[in-house]
Amino acid sequence: MKTWNPARGCTKKSAGCLHCYAEQFANRFWKDGFTPQLNSAPFTTILSKKKYPAGVAVFVMSGADFWHTAFDQYRQEWMSLIRQRPDLRFMIPTKRPENALATTPELPDNLEINVTMENQAMANERIPYLLKIKAKRKAIIVEPMLEAVDLSAILSTGQIGSITAGGESGFSSRPCHLEWIEALYEQCVKYNVNYTCKQCGGNFYDHQGRVKAKNHGDMWNVIRHYDKTLFVATELSFIGVTGDKIRENPDDRQDTLFREAK
Ligand code: SF4
Repeated sequence: MKTWNPARGCTKKSAGCLHCYAEQFANRFWKDGFTPQLNSAPFTTILSKKKYPAGVAVFVMSGADFWHTAFDQYRQEWMSLIRQRPDLRFMIPTKRPENALATTPELPDNLEINVTMENQAMANERIPYLLKIKAKRKAIIVEPMLEAVDLSAILSTGQIGSITAGGESGFSSRPCHLEWIEALYEQCVKYNVNYTCKQCGGNFYDHQGRVKAKNHGDMWNVIRHYDKTLFVATELSFIGVTGDKIRENPDDRQDTLFREAK
């Protein structure tokens, strides 16, 4: 997967932002910290077929929220560029679907909007906006998963192509429970929606209690263990594991993107 970062910086929106990795990165490496601002490369870099060959997936704004209001004046230009590359698949995560609806209520087919909702309150708040946006490709990210989340209402609409869930990573990570991951999986099975559990996180509890892991690699092993023992049915696919095939690169999310509602 490629990235396209015409801007960087953000402001915290909700509980899921508490340990924002982009903020930590910006405060460490950028003079202006996490203040929303443009990056120096021209926006039109995305038109380069050498840098962005046809067919690749492009993750937009790894250090910002594309629909942050600070970027309102640039978004139409960004959308125009996205439309000029119908051969690419753009994946844009956001915690601001209300601003997506207000400024870009109709999205091109080569763009997948991924609305993030870390708990039930944010799901209840953000889902109505996501439902109103006209888009062929809509997805939901429940990460960091801070509690059990019931998405039945939106999954039953048939508008959602995929759900990605995951615990919080990092040294201060908040707990994530296997039963939450399982419950969301059951909802996805019921409504025939693709489901991916991206990671257990650094503070993971299974049915017996906290799972001890020394590092992130150990957590991958935990995920694989659960995939092979608990989740045998399998519409479920973990990053790094699809059915019983283990891919070499767990960060390769291309196969999980752009799954249309079934
Ligand atoms: S919306 Fe995303 S980029 Fe912005 S502060 Fe929250 S987690 Fe970080």
